[in-house]
Amino acid sequence: MWFAVSGGQMPRELSGMRWVSRFPTSTSLDDLKGNFRQNAHAFVGALRAAGATVTIAATYRPAERAYLMHYCFRIAKGGLDPQRVPAYPGVDIEWAHRDQAGQVDVARSRQAAREMAAAYAIVRQPALASRHTQGLAIDMRIAWTGTLRLLTEDGTEVAIQSEPRSGNNAELHKVGETYGCFHRVPKDPPHWSSDGR
Ligand SMILES: [Zn+2]
Repeated sequence: MWFAVSGGQMPRELSGMRWVSRFPTSTSLDDLKGNFRQNAHAFVGALRAAGATVTIAATYRPAERAYLMHYCFRIAKGGLDPQRVPAYPGVDIEWAHRDQAGQVDVARSRQAAREMAAAYAIVRQPALASRHTQGLAIDMRIAWTGTLRLLTEDGTEVAIQSEPRSGNNAELHKVGETYGCFHRVPKDPPHWSSDGR
């Protein structure tokens, strides 16, 4: 059964896999916000013009998705009581599954949350608010071969010969900064944002 009714409230849809495809994360630079949108377009444009391959995995993440990811992970891995999850506007999810007697079934609730967390491919606890939910971050894979001759924002050519030939390259980070695109989290190789966070 997909809907749970409690205490005369409107029925809410039980947690589970169906939620994962909703509120999708954008992969378009056009969904970024403010100056960062132009900055990201300029930086990615320069990379592609220089012959680098840029594969964008994520830009803007709706706050609704961040809420679903955050709480399914906490129920699945953090032992959070499914009845204690705060509601979120526009996301009519019921985290607490019940048995036939109407009692909260914690094991089933946790199992549904685990399936969601696995489908989201969550590694560590997602933040409720992040540069992604603000439209100020990109996850992208960057690769090139040989020397990357890349233009900075003011048109100066930088020949990058160092390794790795990826988003973790320190010289590439310096060029990114001229565009207002910052990479400062080494253990999150694809992540670039308006301030590196
Ligand atoms: Zn990211």
